[in-house]
Amino acid sequence: MDSLLVIDGSVLEGGGQILRNALSLSCILRRPIKVHKIRAGRPKPGLAAQHLFGLNLLQQITNGRVTGNAIGSTSIEFHPGEIQSGKYYADTKTAASISLLMQVALPVLMFGKNVSELELKGGTNAAMAPPVDFMTEIFRPNLEKFGTTFDLDLLRRGYFPKGGGHCRVTVYPAKQLNPIEIINFGEIAEVFGWSYVAGVLPLNIAQEMEKGAVDVLEKCGTKKINIEVYKESQQMSRDPGSGIILGASTSSGCVLGSSALGDPKTKPYQKAASAANELLSAICNRECIDQHVQDQLIIYMALANGTSTIQTGKLTTHTLTAIHVAELMTGVKFETTEDPRSGVSVVKCKGIGIINNSMPNSDK
Ligand code: ATP
Repeated sequence: MDSLLVIDGSVLEGGGQILRNALSLSCILRRPIKVHKIRAGRPKPGLAAQHLFGLNLLQQITNGRVTGNAIGSTSIEFHPGEIQSGKYYADTKTAASISLLMQVALPVLMFGKNVSELELKGGTNAAMAPPVDFMTEIFRPNLEKFGTTFDLDLLRRGYFPKGGGHCRVTVYPAKQLNPIEIINFGEIAEVFGWSYVAGVLPLNIAQEMEKGAVDVLEKCGTKKINIEVYKESQQMSRDPGSGIILGASTSSGCVLGSSALGDPKTKPYQKAASAANELLSAICNRECIDQHVQDQLIIYMALANGTSTIQTGKLTTHTLTAIHVAELMTGVKFETTEDPRSGVSVVKCKGIGIINNSMPNSDK
């Protein structure tokens, strides 16, 4: 195994993502890491529940060794073992994002020997994180272009502050990741989405959000706008929650999205309109990848077998952070260009083509 790599967690975004990406790559490359100054860029630095449970999950998945794995810890050392496959469980007991637990674990389990199952409890629709629906409807179609996928069964919703959401995620192993080329927008084909309320919240909140989104997205050039308005069943959630998830697909197979969570201080119409404006702006700019999927593809591009190119909007600090970690840990070099006027960017890299040697030879 290689020597310990020391990573400064305060670089660029200085949030949880630098830690998640570094941990995933540590497992895949079997490279021990020390991450210090964890989340130094956040008001409450150190490990929060989601980061701690993600770390512990990878410790379980690889039978690794870890120190510093406690809430509030600003430094951890992680020595991964071999990636296993099987059933893994994490209950954050908070509304910590299930999607961000997936973000750290998915790339690792794809390099396992067999199919794995993650049983995750926490928030399904959490602030500053992808809703689980975004993971399946927007992120997954993009991930599938690398030739790999996952399934997600939503058993219960979990909102801030109580959490209690529950998902079962099945991850399929891949022998190698294909490079991707997502650079042609084509024509807008369809706009879709889900506007929801749960618990005691009335359905008219979801109706107002749908109207706010449709009023904006009507300008995007398709008449096919289909946003489902619904109230979660009592079985799915007894707690109050509301929000909207929006997506757009194009004739060339691009899928991009945006989302908003309801909050008592902002009118539902306004909340949804701002999420819709984010999507509209990406569509009008003919961006193939939205600003949230952008950073989430970087780790897969660095690992893929060949040159990947994506066309997207202005690069986010999350993306620059993901690039920084990927370059540091894999040795790949990303090339980025950005149109100064529109912000439209192209991100390109030749991945290391890592092979999953634990997987028996097969097509999957
Ligand atoms: P911190 O609490 O330090 O911010 P974190 O672990 O909660 O850390 P970030 O480091 O900010 O989170 O990373 C958040 C991840 O969630 C990024 O991949 C980002 O693209 C994604 N994300 C945030 N908001 C959304 C959203 N509305 N839709 C989809 N993805 C999102």
